This record gives sequence, C-alpha cells and structure tokens, in this order.
Amino acid sequence: MHHFAYRDGALFAEDVDLRRIAAEVGTPVYVYSSATIERHYRLFAQAMAGIDPARPAPHVFYAMKANGNLGVLKTLAALGAGCDTVSEGEVRKALAAGFAPDKIVFSGVGKSESELAFAVEAGIYQINIETEGELDLLSKVAARLGKRQEAVFRVNPDIGAGGHAKITTGSAANKFGVSFEEASRLYARAANLPGVRMMGLAVHIGSQIQDIAAFEAAYAKMAGLVGSLRDEGHRVDRLDLGGGLGIPYEMAKAVDHGPELIEDYAAMVARVTKGLDVELGFEPGRLIVGNAGILMTRVVHLNPRPSKQFLIVDAAMNDLVRPAMYEAYHEIWPVAEPAAEARSIAYDVVGPICESGDTFTTGRVLPELRPDDLVAFMTAGAYGASMSSTYNQRLLVAEVLVKGAQYAVTRPRQSYEELIGTDRAPPWLA
Ligand code: PLP
Repeated sequence: MHHFAYRDGALFAEDVDLRRIAAEVGTPVYVYSSATIERHYRLFAQAMAGIDPARPAPHVFYAMKANGNLGVLKTLAALGAGCDTVSEGEVRKALAAGFAPDKIVFSGVGKSESELAFAVEAGIYQINIETEGELDLLSKVAARLGKRQEAVFRVNPDIGAGGHAKITTGSAANKFGVSFEEASRLYARAANLPGVRMMGLAVHIGSQIQDIAAFEAAYAKMAGLVGSLRDEGHRVDRLDLGGGLGIPYEMAKAVDHGPELIEDYAAMVARVTKGLDVELGFEPGRLIVGNAGILMTRVVHLNPRPSKQFLIVDAAMNDLVRPAMYEAYHEIWPVAEPAAEARSIAYDVVGPICESGDTFTTGRVLPELRPDDLVAFMTAGAYGASMSSTYNQRLLVAEVLVKGAQYAVTRPRQSYEELIGTDRAPPWLA
C-alpha cells in the first residue's frame, strides 16, 4: 500500500498536489511519503515482534543504503528503528539523523581500518564481520582504543536468491561473508582476540526476494550453525537475518500487497527459529521505502521515428539507474490524470544522457503525452536517489518529503557552483 493517488484530476502524494512540487522545486525530483514509510515500518516491526511475543521485540535495523535521505532517516529514527550501515559515511549519517549508537550495525565486505576505528569509537551496537582479515583488524583497532567491540560473523550460506544477478549476495560465488565451513574455526579464533566479543551470526542472501522458501533454506542452515557453534562451547546470542524482502513493482498489485508477504515471512522465521533462544535482528531496506517514493520528471521532447516514438524526459540514468543497471521495471503514471478516452501510444522513455543505455523502458503503452507534461516513475523510493550521480555533469537530483498536507525539500537540487566548484585544477594548469 502507498499514498500516491489521483485526486481532482492530478496525482497527489498524501495531501500534496505533485504539480505544486514540480512548480516550486522543479524536476526531476524524488517525492517520498511519510505515511507510507511509517506504515511499512510499523507493519514489519509488528510482524517481527509477533514471532515470539515472550521475548523482547527483535531489532529492526533499516538498511540506509536503500534511501539515505535525512528526512527519511529521521522519520524512521522517530519510530524507534535502528539502522544498518555499510560505510563510515552511513555511520556518520545515522548518528546525524538521530539513531543512537547502540541502534547501529555496520556491515560490508571492505571496511577499512579508519572506518572500523570510527565505528568502535562511536560505540555502535554491532559490527558484522565478513572476512578473517577484518576480524584481526577489528580486534587490533578496538584493543588499541581500549575497547572490546561486539560483533557477529556474516556467514555466506551458499543460497542464491534475488531479483537480479547483481543483487544476489548469498551464493558462494558472491563476495559476501565468511564461508559456512569456516565459521567454526573463525569463532574459535575470535575467542582469543582481545578486541572483539563474538555475539552471534548474520546472513543476508540478496534483495528483491519474494520467494519465502529461499529465505527459509538459508535461515534453516543458520539455525543449524547456531546449534553446532553452541555445541562447541561458543556464545551465540544474536542472529541477524538481513534484509531482502521484495516488493511489487506493479502498483496495481501493490495496493493489496505488503502484509501478506511480511506475515508469511514472519511465520517462516518463527518456524525456523523456534526454541533457538536468540535475539533476532532484521535489516529491511527496499520493503520500507520502495513504494514510498516516486521520481517525478517532465517530458522535454518527443522524437517520432517511423518505427517508434521516443519520449525524452528530464530525468536520466544518473537520477534513477535501476532500469539501466538491473533491467528494472517502474510503472509510469502521468501526473495529470488521463481521461478515460485518452489515446494510447507505445513509447521508448529515455533520458538526456549520451548513452543508449539511458532508457527507462521500451514500447511502454501510455496515454498520449506532450512536452512539458509531468510523469512519475513509481516505486522509486529504494535504490533511486541513493544511487544517483552527477554523470554527464548533471546536478544531483532534489528530494522532497511529504507529510499530510505539508512538504519539505529534504535535499535541495545541487547547484552548478557545488557541482563544479569542488574540482581543483592541477598547479601546472592553473
Ligand atoms: N543488509 C545488507 C547487508 C545488504 O547488503 C542489504 C542490501 O543489499 C540490505 C540489508 C537491504 O536489502 P533490501 O533493501 O533488499 O531489504
């Protein structure tokens, strides 16, 4: 469910007319709905709390990589969410957004010494260790700071799943996590290191997964590993089950979707972890913000060809890279509500970037559109703005957060001074 709907002939985000945002902020612009973010977070957190009502509610660490907008982060921090981070920048941003250090986890395969030092000094809740080298480095860094950092091993269960090969992370062919077979040896090694305290295990098998069976296979393996590590005398108190739960990119289906998949997922986790006596953690990203955001863009030109019609919009692959990178599908809704009898045309919707890959979709049948018309790429709240760039020296896209009848620009469009002014000429060319 989401809060974008036609009202009085125009598309609204909650109670705000998107035409007003286009006029006041310009395009392209991401628009996020607070109500949708709040609803998804609550649905997820409540379902996870129901897994074992006798225990404290599991931790829900929102995966910032999906959308790191300050307004989105503050919305989630205010709801009591934790935060999953993958770089020093994300740890810093989580702290700046108001997440308490003891609600932050730090994942990622290539954490550097300075990043680990920053996280340890900040007193974050947990570091998810992904390699033996990282284990040694973390212990050295923490011991030097006079600390013992709580950590878990991210284990690769060799179960591949995900909406696209580039977002599959849990197969042995992927770079993520220590191998299942190595977990026991590394746990034993860690017991003798001065700067770490191993608290348990983590797993994350990929993103945009709608097949509960794939999660179940991975989690069942992890539950087995918890048991065998304990048999060897190790302390395994925590099991971080990662993120990855998929969302419907076809919005017509999305209206009824959400609770069912989350409930099936919670029921599966309850089944697999029954009697395991662990503190559960989750790292959802896409599920929380995916259909809480749209990218609004304006038609710039038409380019009719004998065989096809190009619709050239002012957003490009630097603003929303998912179609070019993952062949991802986004519904496209005209902001002005189309009349029932409107003529339909098959468009190739493309951006202004000098690459044929800058194509959002081909042969998409849409109501007839003209230059200056506004359209919205739906379900663009996750891995949209957070993956945006300045490719082709285009300005970083603006972001807006709506709450009821109000909206705020939570990231202004970059200025040309900011874009160009940070470069430095070498002294020999100055
Ligand atoms: N946790 C980790 C370690 C990840 O790498 C990711 C995304 O790739 C996530 C959580 C969030 O995944 P999703 O947005 O699919 O929920």
